[in-house]
Amino acid sequence: MQYNKLGNTEITVSRLCFGTLTMGPLQKGLGIQAGAKLICLALEKGVNFMDTAEIYGCYPYIKEALRSFPEAVVASKSYAPTGQEMEKSLHHCLKALDRDYVDIFLLHEQESVFTIRGHWEAVEYLLKAREKGLVRAIGISTHYVAGVRAAASIPEFDVIHPIINRAGIGIADGGVDEMLDAISFAAMMGKGIYGMKCLGGGHLIPETDRAMDFILAVPQLAAVAVGMQSPEEIEYNVSKFSGACPDRELAEQLRRKPRYLHVEDYCQGCGRCVERCSAGALAVVDGRVQVNRELCRLCSYCASVCPEFCIKVI
Ligand code: SF4
Ligand code: SF4
Repeated sequence: MQYNKLGNTEITVSRLCFGTLTMGPLQKGLGIQAGAKLICLALEKGVNFMDTAEIYGCYPYIKEALRSFPEAVVASKSYAPTGQEMEKSLHHCLKALDRDYVDIFLLHEQESVFTIRGHWEAVEYLLKAREKGLVRAIGISTHYVAGVRAAASIPEFDVIHPIINRAGIGIADGGVDEMLDAISFAAMMGKGIYGMKCLGGGHLIPETDRAMDFILAVPQLAAVAVGMQSPEEIEYNVSKFSGACPDRELAEQLRRKPRYLHVEDYCQGCGRCVERCSAGALAVVDGRVQVNRELCRLCSYCASVCPEFCIKVI
């Protein structure tokens, strides 16, 4: 496994970062012990970095895994816009992880300099928390080229977590080349960068090898968060990220598992998920929500607001 320093921080991360979203309650919904065992398997194989977010509901898995690997690096994110709400969010994270600090804490889903400025009270709280040692590095996650460019120019930020994949799936305001240019600029500004959605939220699973080769050839990415739900996926990804050639049969087995957003028949058509989806992938038609699979980036954020629990990525 390759390890990299995350920009100008003192944090060293494995190139493969364990993305927890896909095994958690918004997607596969593994039990706590089963999920923790899966994370530990990856950590035993050299992964030292986990990515999560308050909204994913995955802190209990990470807490269990940290018992065996207390030094592992954890990144989390919060939508909190004010200082008070960010304080609550960070303390919830620390308590849920049973830890005195979290390595990286990000403003979740920032779009541009304007949304970042709108969250500046929360940033000011995080700066104080960083001084006190409650968090080691701060920054943003983003689906926007403009988000990466804005955060790159803000000296207070240490880390940027952008969406990037070979097909540009999910990049909200541009294409692959614009995002790569913005990432290069951010790296030049000393930011630690780890990518997300290298498989386009699942759309690129049929061409996993090509998608992975693309992302591994982006030198500015200190790490890449990849969602993993099974020991087979861990084996494939560890092998790929270690520069080895993954078992062909295993690669073929994973390639045949496309993922998509499923809405249960008992959808009430309330429209909350439609409002939540920033990709414009949902619409209520004849009293029930319909998914445009071309636009859906399988982030599961719509599932988190459904009062009927009828959305799942499967
Ligand atoms: S939030 Fe749930 S119940 Fe409401 S429209 Fe969406 S899927 Fe249907
Ligand atoms: S439909 Fe749901 S999973 Fe798909 S992009 Fe929108 S919020 Fe994300």
